[in-house]
Amino acid sequence: MSFQRIQEKLKILADAAKYDVSCSSSGSNRSNTTKGIGNATGMGICHSYTEDGRCVSLLKILLTNYCIFDCAYCVTRKSNDIKRAAFKVQEVVDLTINFYRRNYIEGLFLSSGIFKNADYTMERLVAVAKKLRLEENFNGYIHLKSIPGASDELMREAGLYADRLSVNIEIPTKSGLKKLAPDKNHDDFIKPMTKVKNEIIQYRAEKKIIRSTPKYAPAGQSTQMIIGASGENDFQIMQTSNHFYKNYNLKRVYYSGYVPISYDDRLPKIGTEVPMLRENRLYQTDWLMRFYGFDVSEILNEQHQHLDLDIDPKLSWALRNLHEFPVDVNTADKRMLARVPGLGMKSVHKILNARRFRRLNWEHLKRIGVALNRAKYFVICESNQFERRDLTSEKIKGFILQNSTSKYRKTLSNQLNLFG
Ligand code: SF4
Repeated sequence: MSFQRIQEKLKILADAAKYDVSCSSSGSNRSNTTKGIGNATGMGICHSYTEDGRCVSLLKILLTNYCIFDCAYCVTRKSNDIKRAAFKVQEVVDLTINFYRRNYIEGLFLSSGIFKNADYTMERLVAVAKKLRLEENFNGYIHLKSIPGASDELMREAGLYADRLSVNIEIPTKSGLKKLAPDKNHDDFIKPMTKVKNEIIQYRAEKKIIRSTPKYAPAGQSTQMIIGASGENDFQIMQTSNHFYKNYNLKRVYYSGYVPISYDDRLPKIGTEVPMLRENRLYQTDWLMRFYGFDVSEILNEQHQHLDLDIDPKLSWALRNLHEFPVDVNTADKRMLARVPGLGMKSVHKILNARRFRRLNWEHLKRIGVALNRAKYFVICESNQFERRDLTSEKIKGFILQNSTSKYRKTLSNQLNLFG
């Protein structure tokens, strides 16, 4: 195979892979204990992102962009008239090793269109990971995409060689999936996810008893949802995320704003702006659920089905719940401090620590790193200054927006115009 042909394949298959954002590699600790190459120890080896937020530091490719399915939202769908290509297993192995040695990458993110059938495709993805680990002694990060419908045996093998596995549920609701990907079956996503979850639990339990038990998908499993392709509201999207976090022990749910790529009446028109700001708000909500103790129903519910675009979800919640404030930073518990706009978890811990020695005032909070331009409307502390507590939520929001600069300001005005 000529170098030129490989280059051509790489161009096609790397380009096709860019729509998948589920490639963050944090959480693995596969260290280089042998004389092998690569090292995925520690937090994240894939923290470089392009300006539009997509991850680029792994070699991120499809094994092939041939596909027997015709999912409307996907550039690889069989009815799309595009150049097709397929790598051989050994070609992906060679590319990964060569790129790694040149320091271009620290790992591999490998996905694929489905050719022939799910097992045929999954078998080849697993073969790449197996060769890298066993023949090349590669200890770098490997993220394998699980092919919906692949057999249990292949899923079990995949987890023995990959750091992370992911099955993309793509569309947040069953009805949306039926509309845009009628060939696909919701259960085909659930089955491999369940298998991976059970294997992770089982291998961990065994490792406690038999130390030589190998690691199984040490960075866990993740999934991706496309946002804005099928009309779901934010409430439905976050309910789905919540369900998957709770029932399948997912490490991450990734949200990917739909990039219009086809003329199809079922989808937003070509030229429609990618909902980057909405994507960002969903990530913030996800964060609040996972690390700040919020229940999804507090942020989104039947009465409040859409996230505000102009303010972040924590501020939005606080403004709808002014009766919970002000919070006294010198006495409030951790849960309540974490709910104050302008207070991140780092600041919360610093406050809890600092107030063991003194009562905190505004100056202390400033030094701790609290974003006082937001927090000052929601907290009280040791202070002689006069503080106004008679502001309405509209007024507070107005003051905060007046003083905030957002990198999303331009996007916000464009996206808000859509609702005009
Ligand atoms: S099965 Fe996957 S690759 Fe194939 S068209 Fe659907 S989303 Fe695209």
